[in-house]
Amino acid sequence: MRILIADDSLVSRHLLEATLRKWGYQAVIANDGAEAWRILDGPDAPRIAILDWMMPGLSGPEICRKIREKNGEPYIYILLLTSRSLREDLIEGLEAGADDYVTKPFDNHELNVRLRAGRRIVDLQAQLLTAREALREQATHDVLTGLWNRHAIFDILHRELARTSREQRPVGIILLDLDHFKNVNDTHGHIAGDAVLREAAQRMLASVRPYDGVGRYGGEEFLIILPGCDEATTEAQAERLRKAIGAEPVVLTGTQIHLTASFGATTALPDTQSGAEQLIHAADEALYRAKALGRDRVVFSPCGEPRATSR
Ligand code: GH3
Ligand code: MG
Ligand code: MG
Repeated sequence: MRILIADDSLVSRHLLEATLRKWGYQAVIANDGAEAWRILDGPDAPRIAILDWMMPGLSGPEICRKIREKNGEPYIYILLLTSRSLREDLIEGLEAGADDYVTKPFDNHELNVRLRAGRRIVDLQAQLLTAREALREQATHDVLTGLWNRHAIFDILHRELARTSREQRPVGIILLDLDHFKNVNDTHGHIAGDAVLREAAQRMLASVRPYDGVGRYGGEEFLIILPGCDEATTEAQAERLRKAIGAEPVVLTGTQIHLTASFGATTALPDTQSGAEQLIHAADEALYRAKALGRDRVVFSPCGEPRATSR
């Protein structure tokens, strides 16, 4: 584990560095306060810092304050090294945001156990961050396909609609539903059905731009949000998706499944101020029409009357 040592005294630095190395730590050295702050404020900063109290540039407590004000992640555990041992001084250091302190000249054993306590905090915090990331992933993604879940894709739609009026740019909305999907389950089983859903999701992701939103709206229904797409582009994009989904049969062990989908598409234009519900409703009606017209097609609704555009 890397530990930052910030001390303006060469003797002190060398002594600390040698001690840390003996304990298996890797020392990162700063010769004054300004350099320490640069390292701690930069990318991939050491997670534990031992800061001398008095240094040119910035003092230990000043660095503590700057780090805590930044409130960055991951957490940096700070040990102040000080020849001061007055109670008020220590309180000042802890108030500035230090986690602990060691008085100089330091006792080897004491420093060792205090560093171990620091490591426990840092490790625990890393575990918390990982758990939080996993929870965030679970809360926003569909487990089967890995796409945005219904809640998250609605959030994306709302966010993009807010941007539509702010930045005067349109948003394309596509609702699609796999055709006769019940037959896939009935003929090949539910597990094969799941595999087809995953493959359909991959085909969708492969034919949109990285900043488009692709979400699972319900069972075999998907909602796609296309920031910046006007009517013509949304329609063209829906057509592209239709071809991507139906181009090749889905190959599973021992069988091939022909897959198509029907599409309802619409566009939110900056001056019309359509709400999310209204747009979804328009896309849903267009999708319904695409099904009624024989499936495997795109129906575009200019947020009013739907019109069939493919096949
Ligand atoms: P249509 O062309 O009219 O859309 O016909 P359809 O058969 O696709 O539509 P229907 O709504 O009758 O059936 C949808 C099927 O999708 C039924 C349901 O079991 C299946 N389904 C929904 N979610 C999942 C899932 O997560 N896994 C699997 N394997 N099937 C699912
Ligand atoms: Mg269906
Ligand atoms: Mg359906």
